[in-house]
Amino acid sequence: MEILRTKNDLRLWRKEVVKHQRLGFAPTMGALHDGHLSLIRASKRDNEKTLISIFVNPAQFGVNEDFDKYPRNEQSDIELCNKSGVDAVFLPSIAEMYESGSETNIIPPKNLATSFEGGLRSGHFNGVLRVVLKFFNLIRPNNAYFGQKDAQQLLIIKKMVSDLFLPINIVPCLTQRDSNGLALSSRNAYLKENSYQNALKIPNAINAVKEAYDKGEVDAKILENIALRHLEPLKIDYCKIVDFNLKAQKKVRENATLMLVAVRVAVGNQQSDNGKLNEVRLLDNIWF
Ligand code: AMP
Repeated sequence: MEILRTKNDLRLWRKEVVKHQRLGFAPTMGALHDGHLSLIRASKRDNEKTLISIFVNPAQFGVNEDFDKYPRNEQSDIELCNKSGVDAVFLPSIAEMYESGSETNIIPPKNLATSFEGGLRSGHFNGVLRVVLKFFNLIRPNNAYFGQKDAQQLLIIKKMVSDLFLPINIVPCLTQRDSNGLALSSRNAYLKENSYQNALKIPNAINAVKEAYDKGEVDAKILENIALRHLEPLKIDYCKIVDFNLKAQKKVRENATLMLVAVRVAVGNQQSDNGKLNEVRLLDNIWF
């Protein structure tokens, strides 16, 4: 497996991928878990070559967010990629990816990017698109793999690819969960015993909604209320059934609606520097 740290390393490696070989790519921020590995497995299934990037992208973090303490396990990530049969890992520095002055910004459409995650994390998706477009241009993959776990991100990336005529096929991948049903996330590393138990209210809510839907319930309000009851007493950022334009829906329609859930789980009763309780934000969703 090749470890590429500069754009130049990457360009040289890319030249060696010959025309008849397909290249699959999955961007990650590292602290790899089985969710990331499922993207690697999907890429290896579809392509002759697979490249993974590991880059904690400062442009997508707000000033009071967890950029500094985001988990970083470079050595074990490299070993996991190697064991999983990845052909190359791109691990650029911040200076390798960004100019120090101001740069071209990529602004996703308002309806997709200013509500839900975009409403709570202003500018987050601009930062995501900036880095993903840079990766796409450098790597020029045939297929790019993204988790359904980050539903809004997936919708926005698909929209960018379609609007900018990028010759890349976006492949959505199912959410991977731990043995208790909690969606895998690098941020689960912040959860301690008590907070982990509280976080399990999320998969319980997801399962209760799926069960009601499987029995025929399609009323969005009723399904949202089932989720809200199961999530109590967690702090809920949002819990909403929407279409793929993120417009609130009255009824669930198969392959056309999703439920977006984001909650905050307390991870201690210590006051942090900014006076707020320490908490972890966790996302989950249902693609009906
Ligand atoms: P991240 O490292 O959190 O930026 O995630 C990198 C990619 O892995 C994104 O496309 C995520 O949606 C995807 N991903 C994260 N968690 C999961 C999961 N539990 N199951 C499937 N994909 C995931």
